[in-house]
Amino acid sequence: MKPNKHKASHTAEREFGGALGATCIPVFLPLTVLYLLSVCRSPAASVLQWPPPLTPAAQLWDPLAAVVIVSWITLQSFLYLLPIGKVSEGLVLRDGSRLKYPINGFHALSITAALLIVCVCLGMPLGYLFELILPLAVCAIGLSYLLSMYLYIRSFWAPQHALSLGGNTGNPLYDFYMGRELNPRIGDFDLKYFCELRPGLIGWVVINLGMLMKEVELRDSPSLAMLLVNSFQLLYVTDALWNEEAVLTTMDIVHDGFGFMLAFGDLAWVPFTYGLQAMFLVVHPQSLSTLGAAGIILLNGIGYFIFRKSNSQKNQFRRDPTHKSVQHLETIATATGKRLLVSGWWGFVRHPNYLGDLLMALAWSLPCGTSHILPYFYVIYFTVLLIHREARDEKQCRAKYGLAWDTYCRRVPYRIIPFVY
Ligand code: NDP
Repeated sequence: MKPNKHKASHTAEREFGGALGATCIPVFLPLTVLYLLSVCRSPAASVLQWPPPLTPAAQLWDPLAAVVIVSWITLQSFLYLLPIGKVSEGLVLRDGSRLKYPINGFHALSITAALLIVCVCLGMPLGYLFELILPLAVCAIGLSYLLSMYLYIRSFWAPQHALSLGGNTGNPLYDFYMGRELNPRIGDFDLKYFCELRPGLIGWVVINLGMLMKEVELRDSPSLAMLLVNSFQLLYVTDALWNEEAVLTTMDIVHDGFGFMLAFGDLAWVPFTYGLQAMFLVVHPQSLSTLGAAGIILLNGIGYFIFRKSNSQKNQFRRDPTHKSVQHLETIATATGKRLLVSGWWGFVRHPNYLGDLLMALAWSLPCGTSHILPYFYVIYFTVLLIHREARDEKQCRAKYGLAWDTYCRRVPYRIIPFVY
């Protein structure tokens, strides 16, 4: 096949600061991961400490880390390919076709958990993940670079209709960052879908468990704060994999190409920064009162309820608007034939799912006390990410739905937090 040229979207508006942003982010974010991990393990855990507690370069590499990462990706790929669970179709693509996806992420998580239990019982020192965390992060970052380069090169042989609309400007750095091909596959193996919820997400909770085991090594039993952080984040990951099918209608799968942004985010950013709280607790133990713990559990529960209910409502509505759970909801028509919900959760604010997610993010940090800002990194970063994501989605929806979107915004004036934003 002849390599394709950059025809898909020369005129598409550039995001993330355009070519400059796409040049700086792939340098800045990997360094941020290594910086945060180094600070988190230091006694002061201060992001403002000068000089910063950087880890010597020699300690950033360990061949064991490379073995662990390769074995991990191999295991998760094998579990992805297992013929268990149902197969679901994605949304209709530009050429009118629909791709098939295995819905077996929850099986992958369960089998991984069973294997881990066996390995730990056989004496595998899972707590060693604490010592290995920086070399692991270095390998994951390296892997996300290699994968993005492969994705960029192979995209030139993809048919035009398989290219994303946002990642084909002709600027190599920008396109490398945004991703040229929408759904790159090797045979039936969908690379973006696999990375989105498997190695990074499951890896994140395994790292958390490693931190818990390290705490047990150091202090004989896990602290209440560590148990809460592990449980909350395990609930979040389990929920994502239990509802794996829902990812098929998200922006990442439907709209964004697969490039450095998603590869790095999935393989390095999520597993190594989302669980900073657990790592922080290993070096900086916190005591938590029963009342404080109850309040935090309640906050996480409320966040989870809003997050799950609103996501499920929209997914159900998009998959089958006549379903009995959504048919009573008020909607408005759009010129595309699709309708928009204006009552129920999506009549409360325009992104109720983000609100729930943010409440949970706060609950994950609170067990770490208020002495340090570092364990609040996730909730701060996530607020910025969701505000930016909301703006991107809003722009896309306005382009898609025109006047109907404006009507929706008038009916539901707040974006994420009622009466505030
Ligand atoms: P959403 O699930 O919020 O989907 C946005 C899309 O929903 C819109 O593009 C539109 O698509 C549709 N939509 C918007 N308003 C309405 C309405 N009133 N009625 C019907 N459909 C509507 O997208 P995300 O992918 O951003 O988020 C999914 C979940 O993932 C969220 O809970 C989010 O918090 C979470 N998330 C978590 C991240 C993390 O790192 N932890 C990162 C990113 C997201 P259309 O009309 O075309 O169907």
